[in-house]
Amino acid sequence: MKRQKIRKLLLILSLLLFPVTLYYFSPALIFNAGMKGVINGSFLVFVAMFVLSVPFGRLFCAYFCPAGGLQECVFTVNDKLPKQGWRNKIKYVIWSVWILAVVVCFLNNKKELTVDFWFETEHGISVSEIQSYVIYYGILCLILIPALLAGKRAFCHYFCWMAPFMVFGTKLRRLLHLPGLHVKVKAKQNCISCGKCSKSCPMGIDIIREMEKGQVKSRNYIPGHLSECIQCGACIDQCPRSVLAYGFGAGPDDFS
Ligand code: SF4
Ligand code: SF4
Repeated sequence: MKRQKIRKLLLILSLLLFPVTLYYFSPALIFNAGMKGVINGSFLVFVAMFVLSVPFGRLFCAYFCPAGGLQECVFTVNDKLPKQGWRNKIKYVIWSVWILAVVVCFLNNKKELTVDFWFETEHGISVSEIQSYVIYYGILCLILIPALLAGKRAFCHYFCWMAPFMVFGTKLRRLLHLPGLHVKVKAKQNCISCGKCSKSCPMGIDIIREMEKGQVKSRNYIPGHLSECIQCGACIDQCPRSVLAYGFGAGPDDFS
């Protein structure tokens, strides 16, 4: 439980810092930078997300993402499980079109590539002018509205342009049979089907059902929506019978 308090505290701190960090997560600024031949802050942050997700999966979403923090703040208003399935694929369509556009911007640039982490920020601060506030509040609405209308972390499920980097990093790890952080079923025989794990999951994963599947699927099987697991550990911390645990391998009892 202490872990979840720390996790929520980190998310709130990240949310409070969002006016400073906004441009380092920006899917738009990377276009301006690309056309000028600049590798900017958001470019480097997205690369870091992909690389770090190979060993750590979507830990960033659980512990450090300001959008995650904002959405978890509205769980008290709407904690329904968002409809998933095909809706979860929307973000991959957005991501593919966006990545293609970024590549075109960089290919069209004729200048020599330079690196400027602070590109178009004011001394590193993103929201420093009145017009930046319009962008800032627009982004907050973009994140908040799906979560308010559709339920728990709906923006992450449907629209986040950063999640695919980490999903692909995790898939690469599995493809290469590398070890990495995941949630594993440690003692399924202790489960009393109380449902506390599923209820606590901020991503709305039906953990009991996935444990059942985990008994019959091979270790590299990745059910599509389990790419939605952000390794937050809430299910581990809520389980009264210590059925679940963090692991750092790829055993056959994994469900994430
Ligand atoms: S399955 Fe567990 S670790 Fe994964 S998102 Fe849900 S609560 Fe967090
Ligand atoms: S919280 Fe633990 S005991 Fe309860 S259903 Fe989940 S795994 Fe089983």
